[in-house]
Amino acid sequence: KTVLIGGGTGFIGKRLGEILHKNKYNVLNVSRMPSANSITWTTVETGLPEQTHAVVNVAGQQTMDFTRSWTPGFKQNVKNSRVFTTRALATAINKSSGKPKVYVVVTGVGAYEPSETNKYDETSPTTGKDFFSKLLVEWEEAAKVDPPVRLVIIRSGVVLGRDGGMIKNMILPFFFGLGGPIGSGKQYLPWIHIEDLTRLITFAIENENVNGILNGVAPHVITNGEFTQAFAKALSRPAFLPVPEFVLNFLLHEERAMLMTKGQHVTPKRVLDYGFKYKYDKIDEACMEFAHLFPKK
Ligand code: NDP
Repeated sequence: KTVLIGGGTGFIGKRLGEILHKNKYNVLNVSRMPSANSITWTTVETGLPEQTHAVVNVAGQQTMDFTRSWTPGFKQNVKNSRVFTTRALATAINKSSGKPKVYVVVTGVGAYEPSETNKYDETSPTTGKDFFSKLLVEWEEAAKVDPPVRLVIIRSGVVLGRDGGMIKNMILPFFFGLGGPIGSGKQYLPWIHIEDLTRLITFAIENENVNGILNGVAPHVITNGEFTQAFAKALSRPAFLPVPEFVLNFLLHEERAMLMTKGQHVTPKRVLDYGFKYKYDKIDEACMEFAHLFPKK
């Protein structure tokens, strides 16, 4: 059975490919770079490869690429690399005669308006007016397929894994004892361990009753401050130097910095209702996994 993964070369996509491969799937990526086990986005325009069992999209220009300024052109790249790839795969599904069983798209908890008081589950409205809330609406709309195939949209929290995303960016400052909470540290930090996210995608592929929006977050709701403590403890490093919000706003641009300075209280109600079992449901256990990243003092 073939699973086609848009962005399968990235942090999430690569790990997903490994797990699917272990579970006896044949994995084919869609990538901008030619390689033996990938096809291009231009090829996708003509339809899906034969015998495609499932389609997954985890493509998207990294938002926290610190080498890139938050210019109108870069913002467009952030948006288009998500909306256009999601739509390209939906269009390929529309065109193909042998339909896949399921289309899984990983989006983000940015769908919910950042707040320190609201509590969100999958039934909550997506009413945000900020750049990311608006992007999320367009992104998820682009996933619609007609005639419909089973569609699963996983709104992921920050993905914790040693090979990419937030953890990779945090290793250096923490190594030098320069880690600390961001701003007040009171903003929520929806998170999921990469093992659980890739297991959840596999769960969505394999269980025919799974449908619609799922919050791809761990059940343990924490704040940025609590995360910082857990990460520092796991690495036996101090973490008292707070990163002031105005510094991030200055360095990253306020619109983008909000991904770190603001957060949402998100629970995975539907994921738990489906009976999915998390491997890492507590932040301490998830962080301990990174303990060996550098030796204890
Ligand atoms: P990566 O940057 O590691 O990988 C994304 C992949 O997308 C790349 O390997 C690249 O593949 C492809 N890509 C990048 N830019 C473009 C572009 N302009 N057009 C087409 N394809 C592009 O990201 P992650 O694996 O961390 O994230 C994947 C998705 O999951 C993103 O959409 C992200 O928003 C979402 N997500 C990630 C979270 C996280 O914490 N990491 C949290 C919540 C959501 P190639 O070079 O082969 O074309």
